[in-house]
Order: sequence, then C-alpha cells, then structure tokens
Amino acid sequence: MAGRRPHAVLLPLPGQGHINPMLQVAKLLHSRGFYVTFVHTRSSHRSILRSSGGPDALAGLEDFRYEVIPDGVAVPPTSRSSSKKKQQVSKGCVAYAATCSAPLREILLARRGGGGGPPGVTCVVYNWLMSFALDVAEELGIPALAFCTMSACGFLGSYFLEELIHKGYAPLKDEKYLTNGYLDTTIDWIPGMRGIRLRDLSSFIRTTDADDFFLETEATCTKKCDRAQGLILNTFDRLEAEVTEAIGAIFPKLYTLGPLPALLQANHAATDSPSVSTRFNYWEQERGCTEWLDAQSPGSVIYVSFGSLTTLTAEVLDEFAWGLADSGRPFLWVVRPDMVAGGGGNARPSVEDFVRRTCGGGRGFVAGWCMQEEVLAHPSVGGFLTHGGWNSTLESVCAGVPVICWPGFAEQHTNCRYACEEWGVGVELGREVRREDVSRLVKELMGGEGGERLRKNAAKWKEEAQSAAAVGGSSYENLERLAKDLSSGKF
Ligand code: UDP
Repeated sequence: MAGRRPHAVLLPLPGQGHINPMLQVAKLLHSRGFYVTFVHTRSSHRSILRSSGGPDALAGLEDFRYEVIPDGVAVPPTSRSSSKKKQQVSKGCVAYAATCSAPLREILLARRGGGGGPPGVTCVVYNWLMSFALDVAEELGIPALAFCTMSACGFLGSYFLEELIHKGYAPLKDEKYLTNGYLDTTIDWIPGMRGIRLRDLSSFIRTTDADDFFLETEATCTKKCDRAQGLILNTFDRLEAEVTEAIGAIFPKLYTLGPLPALLQANHAATDSPSVSTRFNYWEQERGCTEWLDAQSPGSVIYVSFGSLTTLTAEVLDEFAWGLADSGRPFLWVVRPDMVAGGGGNARPSVEDFVRRTCGGGRGFVAGWCMQEEVLAHPSVGGFLTHGGWNSTLESVCAGVPVICWPGFAEQHTNCRYACEEWGVGVELGREVRREDVSRLVKELMGGEGGERLRKNAAKWKEEAQSAAAVGGSSYENLERLAKDLSSGKF
C-alpha cells in the first residue's frame, strides 16, 4: 500500500555473537524509514539488563520497540557451568520452536496495522537457527528473510551438510576417523570452495552419532533458508568473492551487508540517523583496558579472546598462560567468568595472580570482558589470538589486525582456513595447545617476517572492508536494495 510505513520484526538467536549483528541490521533498517520491532527472548533480555545495570539499554525509541518473549530456557546465557551451558543450548534450540512460535505469532498478529498503533508488519528478519519464525511468517503470509550470522564460507559449507550426510561423509563411521587422516579428504563438489577439506567444514561433522543434535539442526536450518524470501550475510563481496558468487547462484535475493559495524558508521554519516544502541553485552565491559593499552607501544600488544562461548580446561588455560608469559610480548587477555569448564568458579583471579608473579612490570592485563571493537582498533594492538568466531574474525579484518586462529566449534575451522589460506591474514594454532607453540606463534606474529606479511595483507583487507561499507560500495548498495525490496514487498 502506497505511503504506508514499512515495519520490520527482527528475531535474533539469543547469544552474544548473534544479537549484535541483528541489532545492527535493525538499526540500518530503522535509518531507512522502517518501524522496527526487535524481539528478545527472556533469558537474553535479563542478561543484557543485568550487565548494563538497568533498563536504559533497552529503552528503544517510539518507532524502535523491544519485545520480550519466553524462551523456556532455565539457565541464563552466562551460566558458569559448561555442562549446564551445553544443556541450555540444546534444550534451548528445541524450546525456542515449542515456546516462541505462539508469542511470535501474537506479536505479528497484534501489529496488523490500522488505528493509531504501529504500522502493520511487512517483513520478518530471523536468525536462521530460529527457523520456526519462517513457518510462522509463511502461515501469516508475511515475507521472511533469513539472517545467517556466520561467514559466507561457513554458510555455504553448512548448506551442503545435508549432501555430505546423504553421501555418507558425516556422521563419521567411528572415532578413528577423527585421527586417521580421513578429515583431510578434499571435497571437490561444493561450488566456490576450491580445495576445501572435511576438516575445514563445520565441527558438527565430527560426530559418530547419526542423531547428533547439532549436526541435524545446522543442516536443516541452513537448508531451510531455501524457503525464505532472501538471505542476509554479514560479509562483503570482495572478501569472499567466489563463495558469495556461488551462494548468489542459489539465492537470487542475497544481501551481503558486512562488515555491519563499518556499514553502520558509513550509513550514520550519510543519513544522520537517530541514535539507538548498536551493541548489547551479556557481561559488563571493563574500562581499564583502554588506559592500559594507552600505556603500551604502538602495535606491540597481542589481544587474546575466545569469544562468548568457548570453554577451556584448566590445563589448556595453563598452556596459554605460560605461552603468553614465555612470548615476552605485552598481552591483553579476556578471561570470562565462565571460561574454564568444570573449573568451579571464575578463573580470572588465578590468571591475574599468575600474570603478576610471572610477567612483572604490567606486561599482561586480564579483563573479564572488554569493548572488543575498540580494543582491536587501538593503535597498541598488533595481533589477535582468537577462536575464530565470525564476528571476531570480521572485526579483526575491519581493524587490519592479523590473527592466530585456534578454531574449535561450528564454522570456526572454515573461518580459520579462509583467514590463513585465502586472505593471508592468519596462522593456525593446533587444537592441542602447547605453550611452546603459543609462544612461538605470538613471537612470529608480533615480530617476525611472517607476521609482517600477514600485517600487510590485513591492512589491505581493512581498506577493502571500508570501501565495501562506504557510500557506493557493495555492502552499501546492498543495503539500499534490501530496504527497497523489503518496503515494496516484491520478492
Ligand atoms: N566480545 C566483546 N568483548 C569481549 C569478547 C568478545 O565485545 O571481551 C564480542 C566480540 O566483539 C564479538 C562477540 O563478542 O562481536 C563474539 O562473537 P564471535 O562470533 O566472535 O564468537 P562467539 O562468541 O559467537 O563464539
């Protein structure tokens, strides 16, 4: 209907690595004249309120509203116990479909428009793992777009999981296949992924269980995107050219909008859009990091963080601690309160104690949670030891910071492969962590010739990222196209 304001309902998967990219898409649509309803599940909502110290973080605007729906998850996302966390993830994924469908339907129905209330809902943008939203939207005849918060290479690998299962590559026949070289098998039939090996694909194939929950969920939710009216990815075309081309051949309505933080900045400058928060945190951000970084020399610090979900054993934590100490380089290390599996509490005080005793003179700084994008952009930071989550990988690309990847979960292996082999910005640390490897790689990254090469490539990708996000760049153009398509409802 001409003249009616478009209304987008956005539904993220509750999780630190998912809520912010979705919020950034919401903010971009809002800047393009959309009325926005952003839906939180209760556990996520509670965690944000707790870490931000009050309701202000979720105040919204008159035409940018937050809604809360139950998620049936008893354990908050920041639970200390790793077994509870795993249960929470698996129970949560089942519970979302069972408990969130009806409340989402109510939200969509209540906003049919008319009267003095909000305009009727014109589209739904859902996290691809919350795929029940697609069923609800289809039932109500509302166009729905999937937003996959993985890399394009991660998405494409997962899109072919069903075929991998069908062809008998996964699940593995038995545990021996994890170590007998089988994972080195090259898969030559996934379009756009030359030379990809089984070990580079989703970690979920590393199971012998035919009913593995993660493998099945990842495979079905990714494939189900076929039914959505379009697909949004947080990447930029130049970075993943062959992969985005291959995805574009499957999904004619593909919108690559990354890096979202850079696109937000460029968009803000161009449209002078009103301010709503662009980041939520489940943990309180520590401010002391910047002061400590200010006191370090340019490019000297290795930043170490394994994202919001990775857990380590006490032994692995020890190897990292000694490796960083032995490297002789200054480091800023994020040790989340729940980072050590079965550790019986917060590992941070003991890590801080270790750093005080072993790295005198303030060479190490330990934080519980930091403002990662600001840390990566700080001139003192010259390298990033990361688990290779997609947000972290892309944030380091944006900042022009080379990486040491220690992948473990989901598509982190794929991101690592691309960072090391395709973009030339990273080196891989083996899964079995040894202090001498940590120390050697940190020294090489921060001072060696190899590190210099990676740094040059990283600087080049930083420029490419900025060009993609700038007015007229590929991601900026895709945003314009997305806003136009969603407003017109023509798919
Ligand atoms: N992050 C942060 N502060 C920290 C550690 C991480 O703000 O101390 C943010 C980081 O910037 C990124 C997100 O948490 O946006 C982690 O997402 P990613 O996809 O890298 O990993 P995940 O947590 O999903 O494994």
